Amino acid sequence: IAPHLAEVALVVVSPGVPLESTIFGSIKRHKVPYVSELELGVQLHQGAVVVVTGSNGKSTTATLIERMLRQGGCSTRLCGNIGSPVLTSGAPVDSSQSRESILVVEASSYQLEACTVLKPDVSVVLNISDNHLERHGSLERYAAAKERVLRLQSEGDLSVVNGDDPWVRDISRSCRAQLGLFGTASEGELNGRSSTWARISSSDTSRDSIVVSLGGVREEYRTDGARLLGRHNRYNIAAAILVARRFRVEPRVVQEVINNFEPLEHRLEIVWRDGPRVIINDSKSTTVAASVAGIAMVFSHFSSLPVALLIGGLSKAGSWQPLLRIIREHRGPRVSVVCFGKDRSLVANHCRDVGIDPVVYPTLREATRHALGALTEGGVVLLSPGCASFDEFIDFEHRGAEFKRYVHEDMVHQAGAGGVL
Ligand code: ADP
Repeated sequence: IAPHLAEVALVVVSPGVPLESTIFGSIKRHKVPYVSELELGVQLHQGAVVVVTGSNGKSTTATLIERMLRQGGCSTRLCGNIGSPVLTSGAPVDSSQSRESILVVEASSYQLEACTVLKPDVSVVLNISDNHLERHGSLERYAAAKERVLRLQSEGDLSVVNGDDPWVRDISRSCRAQLGLFGTASEGELNGRSSTWARISSSDTSRDSIVVSLGGVREEYRTDGARLLGRHNRYNIAAAILVARRFRVEPRVVQEVINNFEPLEHRLEIVWRDGPRVIINDSKSTTVAASVAGIAMVFSHFSSLPVALLIGGLSKAGSWQPLLRIIREHRGPRVSVVCFGKDRSLVANHCRDVGIDPVVYPTLREATRHALGALTEGGVVLLSPGCASFDEFIDFEHRGAEFKRYVHEDMVHQAGAGGVL
């Protein structure tokens, strides 16, 4: 046995350690018991556990769930991929003053892949799209990592899953827990699969609401006043409603949170608005699917305005086609694409291949200046990079903060040169 493993009783695996690594190989070969950091934290918690996973929307949805539960009188702690690790989240949740003590865990595929005994009371799987293929190798293996959140759940548990997403449908087929479906399918179709669902109204009806069935009992939540914009956020809200209602949070409280919840920083955050000019920071978009959600939101909420879309950074494995298709098929005012960062040429070539002619700059600084200069008469500047940030920045938060600084500098400069602030 490897000397460093000889006297080890239990290995706690950090999410940063891939299953294919040499160290993990020797742990398995020598049959040293191991547990993932997330699982150990979950097991030490004395109370209910909600685990939220998916390719996009985890932070938004986990935070929304936590807010609904807290405002509904539960003691909660939000941890995992957001904020603090599950194991070291500080003081245990105090359940003495409240109805229920609930851990809300945001889990990435990295955290889930080493889990072997995870059995949350409620799991949420938001969507599965190309992401982290560098580590997982294929979408199948990536989906298999996500499936670990559902696999051991039993009848008394709840699996809240996206009924519109083919990969999520696939991994939830064998799930034994009660299904809570969310999506846009017809009521008949949803009822055919489960009596617990949340149905998002279709985009062409005037009613912006989510109809919910809880074991056949119907409720309706309005989403027209929500500050979380875009269709994708309707999915996040629908999932959160099903979780909150599982813990008997009153509908009135759920509706209040839907109305008042502000987008998290760097997720379609409107950072500047004057008349017909809108500037949006979506630096957390590190996948093409997130950029698709971002541009779709802009096309529907700002449909009369031209758009400058900033994309680039470090491109991940996976296709750019879904984003380029939505831009090409757009029939509204002009969309100009500005590519920046280390992989700017690669991304620009994908654009040219489908007949989109981008402008290319080495850095986000220059790309921002160009976009702001091009839309002085009005329009939307959207930073939704679809790429990792590590070529120019420490992380997505740094990228978003710098973008906001550039915007501020350039807008002040334009105002000084006769523009409007
Ligand atoms: P995550 O924690 O999974 O990265 P976030 O809530 O931080 O999710 O959002 C990350 C990015 O994904 C943002 O650009 C956001 O606008 C976008 N996004 C949020 N929810 C969804 C969704 N349901 N589908 C697609 N994109 C989404």
